[in-house]
Amino acid sequence: MKTIVITGAAGFLGSHLVDRMLAEEYRVIGIDNLITGDLKNLEHLKSEERFEFVEHDVTTFTSVAGGVSCILHFASPASPIDYLKIPIQTLKVGSLGTHNLLGLAKAKNAKFMIASTSEVYGDPLEHPQSESYYGNVNSIGPRGVYDEAKRFQESMTMAYHRVHKLDTRIARIFNTYGPRMRLNDGRVIPAFIGQILREEPLTVFGKGDQTRSFCFVDDLVEGIVRLLAAEYHLPVNLGNPDETTILEFAQELIGLTGSKSEILFKLLPEDDPLQRQPDIKLAKELLGWEPHITRREGLEKTIAYFKRLSPEELRHKEHRTFN
Ligand code: UDP
Repeated sequence: MKTIVITGAAGFLGSHLVDRMLAEEYRVIGIDNLITGDLKNLEHLKSEERFEFVEHDVTTFTSVAGGVSCILHFASPASPIDYLKIPIQTLKVGSLGTHNLLGLAKAKNAKFMIASTSEVYGDPLEHPQSESYYGNVNSIGPRGVYDEAKRFQESMTMAYHRVHKLDTRIARIFNTYGPRMRLNDGRVIPAFIGQILREEPLTVFGKGDQTRSFCFVDDLVEGIVRLLAAEYHLPVNLGNPDETTILEFAQELIGLTGSKSEILFKLLPEDDPLQRQPDIKLAKELLGWEPHITRREGLEKTIAYFKRLSPEELRHKEHRTFN
C-alpha cells in the first residue's frame, strides 16, 4: 500500500484531501499543528486503520517512519484574518515548512505537491489571470506575508525540481469553499452564511464591486488528483472561472436562502484585490479538468453544513481586526 503524507490535514482543504486519498486506497499520514485546523474535521476517521494523525509543526524538523510515495504540503493559515493574527507563522510554514518537507520528499524519493494560490498574482493587473502572469504583489502589506510565503514556496519547489530532480507539482488554487470551512475565519462565504443564519446584516466590504470566482471543494480536489497524476512541474491554475462581484454574491445568497438580512457596507481592507478570475485553459488541456458544480449547488451543500452547527458555534463570530 502506498503512503501519502498530507500537511494541514485538519484544515478545510487538507481534510477533504485525506478523505479522497483514503478513497484512492492510500495509507494516509495527516500532519497538523492545529493553529487554524480543527480535529473535528477528522473525527469521522477515528476508526480508519489506514489513517494516522500526527500533531506536529512542520516548520521544525519533520520525519516519518517507512516509505512515502507522495507529500501534499497544504498546511498554512489561509484567510486574511489569520494572516493578520499570525503573520510570522504564515511566513514560516510557507518557507521553513516547505524546505523541511522538500527535504523529506528528497529523502523518501517521494512526489511533492504544494498548495500555491491565486494570491501569487496579488491585486492583478491582468484579467483573467493565467499562469504566465507574474503578479502585482505588495510584499510589505497585510496580505504580503501569505503572498510572499507562497511565492517563496513556488521558487523553492522549482529549485528542488531543477537541482535534485524531485518530482514536483504546483497547484495555484483560487477561492475555494464548502463544508468544513471555519465559520469564523472571516472569509466571505462562511461570513455571509453565518450572518444569514444569525439573521444579521451581510457585511459587504467597500462598494462590493470587487470580484471573486468561487470553486466548490469537490471540484478542486478532483483537479488536485488529476494534477498529481500528470507529468507537469510548472504551476497550474485550479479554480472556477464563474466570476461574480461581492455585492451580487451577497444578493444571490439572500435570494437563495430567502433571508431578510440587509446589506451593511464596511471599509475595504487594505490591498483587497479588485478582481480575481482563473484562466483554466492549461488545466483543461493538461488534465481534461474543469469545475462542474454550479455555485447554487455548492452553496446549498455548504449552507446545509453550517446549519448543522450548534447554536454556540453559530454565535461565535469572526473578529476582523482591521475594520
Ligand atoms: N468580504 C466582504 N465581506 C466579508 C468578508 C469578505 O465583502 O464579510 C470581501 C473581501 O473584501 C474580498 C472578498 O469578499 O473582496 C473575498 O474575501 P475573502 O476573505 O473570502 O478572500 P480573498 O479572496 O480576499 O482572499
